[in-house]
Amino acid sequence: MSQHFLLSPAAKTLSLVKVMRMSEDEARTAFRQVRWTETEGEPICPECGCVDHYDLKTRQVYKCKGCSKQY
Ligand SMILES: [Zn+2]
Repeated sequence: MSQHFLLSPAAKTLSLVKVMRMSEDEARTAFRQVRWTETEGEPICPECGCVDHYDLKTRQVYKCKGCSKQY
């Protein structure tokens, strides 16, 4: 089982204070860089591993172009 991403060294450098000073977009970008370090913040579908996705603006989710899963 792989380590949870929030326990990774990348996540630990992301302090709560720093996040709170960010705008929502900055915080989201920082979160993505921690969540998907291997692609430098490009979301990867947890279902099929595809990196092509739609950005749903209405809700803060991504929709996979491969399998249509929202994550
Ligand atoms: Zn997918």
